Amino acid sequence: MSENKNLIEGRTGLWEVVIGLEVHAQTISKAKLFDGCSTDFGAEPNTQVGFFTAAMPGMLPVLNQFCVEQAIKTGLGLNATVNKFSVFDRKNYFYADLPCGYQISQFSHPIVTGGYLDIDLEGGESKRINITRLHMEMDAGKSIHDLHPTKTYIDLNRSGIALMEIVSEPEMRSSSEAMAYVKKLRSILRYLGTCDGNMEQGSLRVDANISLRRPGDPFGTRAEIKNVNSIRFLGQAIEYEIQRQLDILEDGGQVIQETRLFDPNKGETRSMRSKEDAHDYRYFPDPDLLPLRLSDERIENVRITMPELPDAKRQRLIAEFGLPLYDATVIVTERETADYYERAVAALKAKDKAQGAKLIANWLMGDVFAAMNKDNKTVETMPVTAENLAGLIDLILDNTISGKIAKDVFTKMWDSGKAPSLLVEELGLKQITDTSVIEQAVDTVLAQHADKVAEYKSGKEALFGFFVGQVMKATQGKANPGLVNDLIKNKLS
Ligand code: ADP
Ligand code: MG
Repeated sequence: MSENKNLIEGRTGLWEVVIGLEVHAQTISKAKLFDGCSTDFGAEPNTQVGFFTAAMPGMLPVLNQFCVEQAIKTGLGLNATVNKFSVFDRKNYFYADLPCGYQISQFSHPIVTGGYLDIDLEGGESKRINITRLHMEMDAGKSIHDLHPTKTYIDLNRSGIALMEIVSEPEMRSSSEAMAYVKKLRSILRYLGTCDGNMEQGSLRVDANISLRRPGDPFGTRAEIKNVNSIRFLGQAIEYEIQRQLDILEDGGQVIQETRLFDPNKGETRSMRSKEDAHDYRYFPDPDLLPLRLSDERIENVRITMPELPDAKRQRLIAEFGLPLYDATVIVTERETADYYERAVAALKAKDKAQGAKLIANWLMGDVFAAMNKDNKTVETMPVTAENLAGLIDLILDNTISGKIAKDVFTKMWDSGKAPSLLVEELGLKQITDTSVIEQAVDTVLAQHADKVAEYKSGKEALFGFFVGQVMKATQGKANPGLVNDLIKNKLS
């Protein structure tokens, strides 16, 4: 059933979409995979190029053990098997941004195999996607084609940086499942601290393999869309590709196995080259590197450093605070947001933690996210601290201010960075809960609108809201709305 709702209706019947993703995740590490030179992004071209990276004759690779630790951690975070024996192979090909003529990668014996992650779909559903493998490899340099009309420039700063290539099983069935997969994978990598997930800077690049088949048939021929660098583009590229293949197949044609590129400006994919097979690369074990052997102890030492991951954190937030699944999912996506949220809840003074926790979630996903978007801030750079947001919620919960006034206070907190209690004091925004004061205002309003009172009494009950509005206006919005309602009801009955 859940498989079927993804089927596409063509002119000639139903089709099923099959998607498998290969993600290249740049490993967080100060030095490159086989060379001590720096990995800093944005440095002057060709200034971070050690002797091995430049392929100087006779230079030997030295494996960066920290990158191995990072790959182990990622494997554990993806519920996978970390293999105690793996091998570095040479993948041979010529390209100007690959000075040594081969990429060191792992082919037949990768460091990690057989994991999974659970993707979050619309309506709170989730689906398990199996991960075939994770292998370590070095990145190539960058060819720059748009600086000169006839020449291509080469920047080797990126060359040799450690990548983790993470390959999924062909188990996704729509563009939204593929987008949810990358979103979840990115979130896990960022929690682990093994990849910063910055897609714009190319730290996370996605190759999408897409094919169509009749339901129940064997897999069809796939096309591979290379190097997609945003989740939104991934969705667009897949949608375009589905339509392209559908048109071919419905006309009785055949999809060619090839590598394609997505052009975000045109919103379409175009052919880049025909797909090469593994044997084209003449893979063989790199004679300069020993096989990588890991002891149980080494893997265990990484396991004990594992942080709480998003799914576990989400379960805990739901159990501890009774948060709805949706809220918890949004809050845990980014580790920094989850940390901020938990700090705010911890700072609450209100007795009813669950009520406060839900209110903080509402405010975070509402006013706070909106202000962050508007001013291009993150939870770490925005002016409202977790403690101050908790303070604002406490003022609502103990009836010092109404929810409506709280919105104004929040704006002022955002602009000034001041604590909410201070602002409420300074601006005289305390809610009026003194019945006699409110009663006075009610009397004045009713006296001023004797005609409307008469109409109300003769059956025009919709006027009730008008009276409430007038009393709130007369008290600059500070009267406790509950009391205002009660008092007006009393007076008019
Ligand atoms: P490569 O692309 O390097 O040749 P693989 O053959 O292992 O590597 O496949 C890479 C990706 O393609 C995997 O994510 C796999 O799930 C996916 N894939 C394989 N066959 C198909 C298919 N027929 N349709 C869609 N995706 C596929
Ligand atoms: Mg591939």
